[in-house]
Amino acid sequence: TLVLGIESSCDETAAALVDGERRIIAQRIASQDEEHAPFGGVVPEIAARAHAERLAPMIEGVLADAGVTLADCDAIAATAGPGLIGGVMVGLVSAKALAMASDTPLIAINHLEGHALSARLADAELAFPYALLLVSGGHCQILRVDGVGEYRRFATTIDDALGEAFDKTAKILGLGFPGGPAVERLAKEGDESAVPLPRPMVGSGEPHFSFAGLKSAVMRAHQSGTYAAADIAASFQKAAVDCVIDRLSIALEAMGRTDTLVVAGGVAANATVRAALEELAERHSMRFTAPPPKLCTDNAAMIAWAGVERLAMHDFQPDPLDIAARPRWPLDPQAEPVRGAGV
Ligand code: ATP
Ligand code: MG
Ligand code: FE
Repeated sequence: TLVLGIESSCDETAAALVDGERRIIAQRIASQDEEHAPFGGVVPEIAARAHAERLAPMIEGVLADAGVTLADCDAIAATAGPGLIGGVMVGLVSAKALAMASDTPLIAINHLEGHALSARLADAELAFPYALLLVSGGHCQILRVDGVGEYRRFATTIDDALGEAFDKTAKILGLGFPGGPAVERLAKEGDESAVPLPRPMVGSGEPHFSFAGLKSAVMRAHQSGTYAAADIAASFQKAAVDCVIDRLSIALEAMGRTDTLVVAGGVAANATVRAALEELAERHSMRFTAPPPKLCTDNAAMIAWAGVERLAMHDFQPDPLDIAARPRWPLDPQAEPVRGAGV
């Protein structure tokens, strides 16, 4: 099996070839950090234009790197949502054109499914079911994954996502964009108990997240002029991790036993988050697994892998060439809407 994956839902343009043996045959990725940095966040129009300029040569490049053509691919898998609609459309329309021209099956992938299954690309031992903490720039969810396409959501955020909280903290501290890695770096030099910060929702019986109050407290601490930026970064990271562990403890109980705890999404690249989760898993006698950091942040290998997983399903059907791009696309359509939650 060989699948071409295409990712363009946010500010990473990416293409990759992945095979059925979990091998990443080729991959290229271009981030748009420089384009968006002056604005302190991703500008959708700029993102869409950058994807449109870069994607076609990138796909050609990946095929050339691997020495294959589209005729060698069993499917073309592209992110069809959720995300910034202009960028998603660039990737999906490109995939449709290539699928039509080469008579190759098209698979429209939910970007969140890409994150959700990314750990199975990296870890051949990871079997269903597993508990999943999905933490990225736009999402903050706890899910039970029973199989490909079988996702039950137990928690989401009522305001900001965890990655968003890292990005906003970075902005407050003047660390630039994207903020997560910068906060993590600065936190290493700070004292995590220096700044008293709230742990929103901790103690609540519901497993949902909230980070807006933590962000406001970070803002007040910064404006007070009392604390060093490194101490604020470290204290923020500690507060955020405490929230995650508390919320997960409740959700794990609600979802029933699984052998493995998995973390995925951009924030899963954070070493402090990973270490705390590993400890939590140990306390619950669970195995812990996380993709390598490069598979945590947006990439096309996880999209190609989701395509490999979809292709292997007994009732696999290619998607029609008129399938629409979706700005919103929940992984668990049955999930109860939560007051204030974006998705
Ligand atoms: P979504 O997947 O929800 O559509 P996205 O595609 O923007 O959002 P990802 O690329 O999966 O998100 O993740 C990006 C987010 O991860 C950003 O908010 C970024 O700050 C955060 N992030 C990346 N690396 C780290 C890190 N080392 N520590 C903390 N946060 C990080
Ligand atoms: Mg990005
Ligand atoms: Fe993502």
